[in-house]
Amino acid sequence: MSEPFPDSLCHRCASLRRVNGANSTFLMCTALEVKYPRQPVVKCQAFVPVRNDLLKREG
Ligand code: SF4
Repeated sequence: MSEPFPDSLCHRCASLRRVNGANSTFLMCTALEVKYPRQPVVKCQAFVPVRNDLLKREG
């Protein structure tokens, strides 16, 4: 199953949880009051990079 909104900032955020439905995957935010923000998210003040991003940056 392909990822929805592959360009969304949420995919690189530690607060993202993927919720699998019968035919699709939903992007749920665990940081904001709005659990399903309008996608694709391109800018977000609550963004926290996932650990993989941190490791890549540290090289
Ligand atoms: S905090 Fe922002 S970038 Fe992170 S999952 Fe929620 S909406 Fe997406």
